[in-house]
Amino acid sequence: MSQGLTLHVVGAGIAGLAAALEAAARGHAVTLHEATGFAGGRARALPDGGDNGTHVLLGANTAALDFLERIGARHRWIEPEPGSLPVYDLATGRLRQVALDPRRWRDPARRPPGMTWPGFLAVLRAGLPWQGGTVAEAFARHPVLLRGFVAPLVLAALNTDPAEAGVAWLGPVLRRLARPGAGRLLVARDGLGPDLVQPALAALGRQGVRLQLGHRLRGIERQGGRATALVFGDGAVPLDRRTAAILALPPWEAARLLPGLAVPAQHAPILNLHFAHATGGPPRFLGLLGGAAQWVLLRPGAVSVTISAAGGQASDALVPVVWSEIRRVALAAGLPGPWPETPPPCRLVREQRATPLHGVERAGPPRLRPLRHLALAGDWMAPGLPATLEAAVRTGRRAGQAFG
Ligand SMILES: Cc1cc2nc3c(=O)[nH]c(=O)nc-3n(C[C@H](O)[C@H](O)[C@H](O)COP(=O)(O)OP(=O)(O)OC[C@H]3O[C@@H](n4cnc5c(N)ncnc54)[C@H](O)[C@@H]3O)c2cc1C
Repeated sequence: MSQGLTLHVVGAGIAGLAAALEAAARGHAVTLHEATGFAGGRARALPDGGDNGTHVLLGANTAALDFLERIGARHRWIEPEPGSLPVYDLATGRLRQVALDPRRWRDPARRPPGMTWPGFLAVLRAGLPWQGGTVAEAFARHPVLLRGFVAPLVLAALNTDPAEAGVAWLGPVLRRLARPGAGRLLVARDGLGPDLVQPALAALGRQGVRLQLGHRLRGIERQGGRATALVFGDGAVPLDRRTAAILALPPWEAARLLPGLAVPAQHAPILNLHFAHATGGPPRFLGLLGGAAQWVLLRPGAVSVTISAAGGQASDALVPVVWSEIRRVALAAGLPGPWPETPPPCRLVREQRATPLHGVERAGPPRLRPLRHLALAGDWMAPGLPATLEAAVRTGRRAGQAFG
């Protein structure tokens, strides 16, 4: 197929936004179809302007950072903790500064807990290709390192408990984190709406991409190895040599539309608690060990807490527990207050299928183009990479290039 096609991108999550941007930049006439009334998918602003959940990017996420550059939003993602990350251990009451660059671990004060020579060798081993078993098994002899460094990394990057997480998923993460600057940690300065989704939509608008919200793809007609039409509620769009489609959908929706497609079957939730609490000072980001909460993001209007792989935890009973954990780290780190004992109003957002579960069983993703006139994108489509914004952007960009 040559350039200058009509391309229908289905799904306005980050993969779909990246696919539409890439395809439009290559000279195709692009329409972006989204089932809901908003763009962003699993990385979106809620109606009140807050984020569904805190999203962190690392320096290693080169495709995602390049996407931010292309939509003119790179400057809006800031490093709240340049150099080292404050990590508070609720069990010991100790606040550490863990260097984000492994070369600075030579300084014992900046080293992750348990990062002895044998522990470091276990990390190097886990980073080798073809490792099998779970992360917990791989670090069974290094419990301090597992609790204080590996588990938080695995929960953040794989959204899977180390007892279930496949060490083969951790390997690529570790290899990418070894590069200079890879550990730099970035968050949206004001939120996913103003710092990601709105700039992306503005960039697409400048490229002439048509956005159709509330336009759910109901079915795909196919004949032999070809996709022949996209079926929406208001009619069908025929696909042919000059008109193609990119499905940038979550795995369960891709499988519904393309029966027989091999997709991840299990998913893991993420729970976020957003406390309406005004703090002074610039955004901050802190880690917590040994409690319910894992990460705390402070922005001027809210304190947000992330609980990855959030098994059964969804009840309001968590609110006072998490708030008391926030208070402890805030007081220990001397964060500008006040930090009253009573929790401020809190909104819980539970994303039940936040990402696939990154377990030991690991089938590769399906082909980029399972049918003629049709390509696939989505965070679950990146070979070897866990499902994150980086994977969503990479697969979106690849699908946007699939038709020339
Ligand atoms: C709470 C939370 C925190 C996270 N934190 C991080 C983080 O810190 N760092 C990180 O890198 N990643 C993080 N992630 C993961 C990241 O958000 C996802 O990997 C990424 O957003 C997935 O993008 P996607 O475009 O592949 O899929 P989606 O975001 O699921 O987009 C798919 C889109 O398709 C639409 N759609 C579905 N069906 C149809 C249909 N039939 N017709 C038309 N449209 C349809 C959906 O409404 C959606 O807009 C987090 C996820 C969650 C939920």
